[in-house]
Amino acid sequence: MKENRKPSVGWSIKLGRLLSIDVYVHFTFLLLLGFIGVSHWMAERSPAAAASGMLFFVALFGCVLLHEFGHALMARRYGIQTRDITLLPIGGLARLERMPDKPMQELWVALAGPAVNVVIAAALAAWLSLTNSWEPLSSLSTTAGGFAERLLAVNVFLVVFNLLPAFPMDGGRVLRSLLALRLDYTRATRIAARIGQGMAALFGLAGLFGNPMLLLIALFVWIGAGQEAAAVEMKSSFAGVRVREAMLTDFRGLSPQETVGDAARLLLAGSQQDFPVLEKGEVVGVLTHTRLLEALRDRGVNVPVGDVMERDFQMASADEELDAALGRIEPGRATLLPVIWNRQLVGLLTAENVGEFYMIRRALSGGGGRRRPAPPVIRIPRVMPPPLPIRQPSS
Ligand SMILES: [Zn+2]
Repeated sequence: MKENRKPSVGWSIKLGRLLSIDVYVHFTFLLLLGFIGVSHWMAERSPAAAASGMLFFVALFGCVLLHEFGHALMARRYGIQTRDITLLPIGGLARLERMPDKPMQELWVALAGPAVNVVIAAALAAWLSLTNSWEPLSSLSTTAGGFAERLLAVNVFLVVFNLLPAFPMDGGRVLRSLLALRLDYTRATRIAARIGQGMAALFGLAGLFGNPMLLLIALFVWIGAGQEAAAVEMKSSFAGVRVREAMLTDFRGLSPQETVGDAARLLLAGSQQDFPVLEKGEVVGVLTHTRLLEALRDRGVNVPVGDVMERDFQMASADEELDAALGRIEPGRATLLPVIWNRQLVGLLTAENVGEFYMIRRALSGGGGRRRPAPPVIRIPRVMPPPLPIRQPSS
């Protein structure tokens, strides 16, 4: 496997690699850390106060990091790898390759994160009892009170908050997996998403009259629930669909000897953004839109495509399930998958084309209306096209 992976969120700094998972921290997190140090310094005029404020913040995010490792390690038990974990000012983000399909597995993966915070809280409570250092709850605030007890309170908050039954919180996944034990997955998701949006509406209302933070959370939950439902809806409508039905078949290829200038002309002339690069009928690389523009900027129009194309790329088979192949299209990295059939290039799979395919299917099934009964699966018949002639380099 290649090691030059990009972080999931731009502007992130790599902290290190733990249990073969890359850990990143977003630069705004460091800004916030600095801000906390400065504000403690301003309030109390002492370097000790600034240091202890920053230390608490780091300890808090240590707990968030362990929470994410809880999800990641549980997922690994089911054979699902985690690409990386990024710490953001709003929390941690573990990028799992996929979510488990079996409801019981999803349940355990979702519970493993909060379970870590339960363990930390219990350990802190035991330590506070052993050392007899409990302080009255009323003396606790974000800055005042014993370090261990404040950390305990924060871990309890993390457990309660994350188990709210609303996507994208862990509790939303717990709810969906429990429902999916009885119902089909799409229906379970729809119900869980609706409950999540109901909760978001309540948060929003409470936020209007009280804590403005709640408004932010409400927005976060509302969007998360909607996205989750849409993603599952799309996934379920692709059940049984093969790559060949959704791929782009009218496309152009490049040869490694053609120049970046030739590629730019093709880009302007048509609607294709990314190009497969072929040599003697075999795909040897891909030239993505981003890579093409970078090459134009850094190396001009005369550089051969073969020098700047991506050689590390994924492919799809025409007969493969569309859903499985889609999992390999990563935003920002692989924007197209060359589709191969009988060792020949027969099409391209791109996110835009799959989006169009989805809309066509919805239109054909009279989609859009929520209250319609579920339409039967409609297959768009498609005959396998013959392999396309590849333009030879003009000498
Ligand atoms: Zn979590």
